[in-house]
Amino acid sequence: MSLRDRTKHSKKILGQGVFLALALSSLTSCQDITQAEASKTRNPASGFGSGATYIYADNPVVLTGNQFLKTPDWGKKLILGQIDATHFLENKCTFKQDNYFMPVETSGNCLEVYKDPTSALINSNNGSWNFATNSDAFYQVNTYYHAKRVIDRFLASLEYAHYFTHMQSSLMIPPATKHDLGATQNFWLGKNGLTNTLKVYSKCAFEGVNINAYFSPAKNELCMGWNSLLPHLHMAQDPGVIYHEMGHVFVKIMMNQRNTIDTGSLVNNYQSIDFHSELGVLSYDEAGAINEGLADFFTFYMLGRPYIGEWGMDRIPAMITEKNGFQGVKYGRPMTEDSHVHIAGVSSHIPGEKLSYPEYVNYNAHTPSERYEGRIHYAGQIISHYMVRLATHFKNSCTLPNKINQSNIVMPKDFSHFASSTLVMMLINETLAELGDMTAKGSDFFNEYLMGAGLSKVFFTNLNQDEAFLWAHQVTPPDMRRFFKIFAKNIKHYISDPFNGLCPQFSVDMSEQLLDEYGLLLFKSYGDRGQGVKIDTFGNVTDRTYANYANTSIYGNWFSPSTTSSEVNELNRKKTVLISKNLLSLPANGSSRPSAYVFDGRSEIEGILSSITFQGTVVPTSTNLADVKFNNKNIKISPGEIVGVALNLVNNSNSIMSGVQVLANDWDHMALEDSGKLYVNRQENQSHSLFMDNIANWKPCQIDGWPQATEGAIISLPGDPSSEGRCNYVTRTNSTIGVTTQSGINYPFYRKDAPQPACLVQFSDQNETKWVSQDFYRKYVLNLEDHECLNNEASGLNFNPNECLIRTLPGANQAVFDRIDPQSTWLETISKNNPNPRHSAGNLILMEVNKWIQPGTTFNCRFRARFTNCQDCFNNNNSGEDYKDYEYAGHTPFKVINFSFKVID
Ligand SMILES: [Zn+2]
Repeated sequence: MSLRDRTKHSKKILGQGVFLALALSSLTSCQDITQAEASKTRNPASGFGSGATYIYADNPVVLTGNQFLKTPDWGKKLILGQIDATHFLENKCTFKQDNYFMPVETSGNCLEVYKDPTSALINSNNGSWNFATNSDAFYQVNTYYHAKRVIDRFLASLEYAHYFTHMQSSLMIPPATKHDLGATQNFWLGKNGLTNTLKVYSKCAFEGVNINAYFSPAKNELCMGWNSLLPHLHMAQDPGVIYHEMGHVFVKIMMNQRNTIDTGSLVNNYQSIDFHSELGVLSYDEAGAINEGLADFFTFYMLGRPYIGEWGMDRIPAMITEKNGFQGVKYGRPMTEDSHVHIAGVSSHIPGEKLSYPEYVNYNAHTPSERYEGRIHYAGQIISHYMVRLATHFKNSCTLPNKINQSNIVMPKDFSHFASSTLVMMLINETLAELGDMTAKGSDFFNEYLMGAGLSKVFFTNLNQDEAFLWAHQVTPPDMRRFFKIFAKNIKHYISDPFNGLCPQFSVDMSEQLLDEYGLLLFKSYGDRGQGVKIDTFGNVTDRTYANYANTSIYGNWFSPSTTSSEVNELNRKKTVLISKNLLSLPANGSSRPSAYVFDGRSEIEGILSSITFQGTVVPTSTNLADVKFNNKNIKISPGEIVGVALNLVNNSNSIMSGVQVLANDWDHMALEDSGKLYVNRQENQSHSLFMDNIANWKPCQIDGWPQATEGAIISLPGDPSSEGRCNYVTRTNSTIGVTTQSGINYPFYRKDAPQPACLVQFSDQNETKWVSQDFYRKYVLNLEDHECLNNEASGLNFNPNECLIRTLPGANQAVFDRIDPQSTWLETISKNNPNPRHSAGNLILMEVNKWIQPGTTFNCRFRARFTNCQDCFNNNNSGEDYKDYEYAGHTPFKVINFSFKVID
């Protein structure tokens, strides 16, 4: 499109905005339950000194069979249970690894249960944990009972997962499960080999009509809600809700098992990572939905019942909202299509009626006419339904292994449920271990401390150690496709393998057909030959596959990878629809649709800023150069503001697009005018005779025909040799800046393929108009000093003047839209039957706008977009193999979105 059209079009961003609903939270919050009245006390019985006490095995609705129950009725429902705490309501946890003689204990308490954050631990009463029914202490003891019970069961599953993947499998793929969970103590929350204690509060006060339960991964605290309006209702009365929240704890453990150091006998044997991986980072993303679905699965895993929240999520919230004069609401979630709460059209036996992706990402069975946009709990139901059905397949068709109980926990009566759900947990663990790996190895078969120094820079997941956080949370995040591709690979090798699999009866074809019924057969290849890189001591990068490391061993079992990747049988892809990325775009020129919505209200942006972090730390803004104090809420992008931008992307296809993601981080889309001149345009370099003549000048590469050569683009033609620094070569490391040190002073230079900020500036001079770097513009037009550039202070040596004028903020430089209906925008999609559609923080890219920009200046930001059910965003259409991790630093896997706007006062 021509330049003039683009500029004219940019005005449409001033179209009336939609209100912003601030839904950002660092908590994994889950619609939940209740507490019960302090009534009916029971005298502590004598003879409870051994840790035995009365507990409830399930929630009051299930125990009484009364779905209209208003008060928990524990009469005759309590049974004897065992509490393993001694003096206080706390304990350590143990883990028995197969190759260890003795179980390993956590260095401190794994679990402590309190009434609330300001209370002290309660004591036992001479060894007895029996307290008056419905007393606070009673609920603390019961919360402890259920929390410890699920911990013991989870650790037993983890023991089995370790045993099978490392000791018993074919080793055709390298196990991601940490090779030594015991010595590292990574079977529990921890850091540097020391235990972090999980604190569980059985009675967290909520206000208004609100009641909930949540796990805070940042604090390792879990809250079971209570509301003084109906004080007899406690979320802790519903064990299913406790198991769900504990499920989030276990997801954190599984995601981070490869990420901390060992300070025990094997000192420094593992890389230490200062931050942890999270499954879900925005108010809505598919990783968050997966986290919720897995957490629900923990309820099934413990109770064997495919429903969560009959009491805590259906009865309690309804009674509290009714008490406040509103209509009662239900949030309980089924986990099988057979549940009576589902709408007609959802069933397990009719082909095509599974709770499939993406149709059901907004579905709440209790209010099916409403759509729940961007709600991870509802999208998560697709995951839980799939997992429950998979466990049921294993239960019904597999010969289940009897060595499944490594540490001999008390076995439940239903062995087949226990064993089949343990197998599913093994697959979940193996998948999360790979996804969350911040060492970027993917397996300890590539760990330099175990396998030799030559492997120090060999990486098979999340690009490399420096970029792993960015890749794992943003560039190649665990969306439905990536999660299920790895999950399916693990089924193929650990379950279906004809020689070493746990259940060859569940064939690869059956696995693909089941995934497809859920719309999750989104990938074409299992990628099981591995796609990694090795960086040598000179910084040269070469591609690697697992076969390069064959015939190595950790425990004496030989690693024997295949040299090729297995392909999906395309005949099995019937329900899953894949769409070409070219069918996603901004509105056409002349369309009545605006190209974006701008949010520049002070308080709404302040709210988002206060919650964004990257790699575990707060993201600093550019003091005095861009600040919410300049925000004027005129829905224009003005100098000095920090604005949120929601692109108004159109789905031009006839199918639902889902998991639409916009990336605004730096990427490899520019090239050096002279690849011999690498030094960053900053004062230190400008004033040193060796570097002043070697200042870098970056120009845009032409991508999809934009910009023109006459507009300043570097063009690479088909057949041009591809080498470092050129437009047709993509960075292998995503590394930006290095330093030359002379006389103790650091002089920063760019890497030849340094990723660059996404936004370019329009520069008009005499009779020509060009697109130039921000650095060029700030020097030659605005004459800005380094200290007048965005992000000059906090970034230090990493200061890049190519983001001097417009800077997208780390932690808020990606946006996700849950689904876009055919021939619609996201806003049109959510406006159906919804009088009050709202954006949420996760839909926005946050940009700092330098206050020194002259009104009237035009920018073009090259954002990159893709979606989960995309045909050609993850692999070349002609090949099943996915793009290599580093290729996601370029444009090939994406639809490049040219977002053009003018800065206006
Ligand atoms: Zn949850």
